[in-house]
Amino acid sequence: MKYADLHIHTNFSDGTFSPQRVIEQARGAGLACIAITDHDTVYAIEPAMQEAEKLGIELIPGVELTAELDDCEVHILGYFIDWQAEWFRKKLEQICDVRKKRALSIIEKLGALGIKLDVDEVMREAGFGSVGRLHIARIMQKEGFVGSIQEAFRKYIGRGCPCYVKRFRLTPGEAIDMIHRLKGLAVLAHPYTLGNDELIADFIQLGLRGIEAYYPEHNKAKTEHYLRLAEKYGLLVTGGSDCHGLGKDRILMGEVKIPYNLVELLKKEAELLKSGQK
Ligand code: AMP
Ligand code: ZN
Ligand code: FE
Ligand code: FE
Repeated sequence: MKYADLHIHTNFSDGTFSPQRVIEQARGAGLACIAITDHDTVYAIEPAMQEAEKLGIELIPGVELTAELDDCEVHILGYFIDWQAEWFRKKLEQICDVRKKRALSIIEKLGALGIKLDVDEVMREAGFGSVGRLHIARIMQKEGFVGSIQEAFRKYIGRGCPCYVKRFRLTPGEAIDMIHRLKGLAVLAHPYTLGNDELIADFIQLGLRGIEAYYPEHNKAKTEHYLRLAEKYGLLVTGGSDCHGLGKDRILMGEVKIPYNLVELLKKEAELLKSGQK
């Protein structure tokens, strides 16, 4: 039986593993196929492709775009995207600039509460690619302001907390459109965070093709709930661990894995899309 983990971050976003290390880890976990889905960046894909070829792992090029709708964040995964498209890279660079500004305003808000972080240290932690709250949380923990990453999110930078800053660039419709233009499949990530299933029908109207039913925070009942929704709406089913290397205390890769036949269904759909039949 072959398995796949279709939600993995590298150190080009807020994971801690290099693209090469992700591929090695995938082999160690016995996975036949993975997707790299960094937040708003695709720089990891090329180096990962090279390593994947060497180690005989199938790599699906992906991305996780952050969109915003009223008061909620919507993460849209894109699979089989044309990750080399020049317009897309430019767009991602603009998005990453907004991320940088947002990080600065989060740091400023923390500072007002007496949590003084060194901006350069946070940017060093983020490295090349996209900066996000997990980088800030790690420095907060390193500097002893919080005892854990969870505490940083719960008390300060999680949604609804005093230092939370929204400021993202895309609406869900724009994110789905971008993936569509890249001939990729748009999939709703960790649907439990949406907290409102009714939005899913709207997203389908906008071009959503799949839903991430298998996810570490989904218990059996939740997973079954989203599988039923997928069936009701004719959505493809995906799943993955959302592994951030050691960025979330524990290596999650392979803890959530899906049977390879689901990947085959995704591939079929992506091929139809690319050949213009859909
Ligand atoms: P950002 O893209 O900057 O909004 O950060 C989003 C990322 O922060 C998510 O993908 C997770 O990696 C991380 N994150 C969000 N909430 C939590 C939490 N409660 N605990 C740990 N990490 C979190
Ligand atoms: Zn993340
Ligand atoms: Fe996400
Ligand atoms: Fe993720």
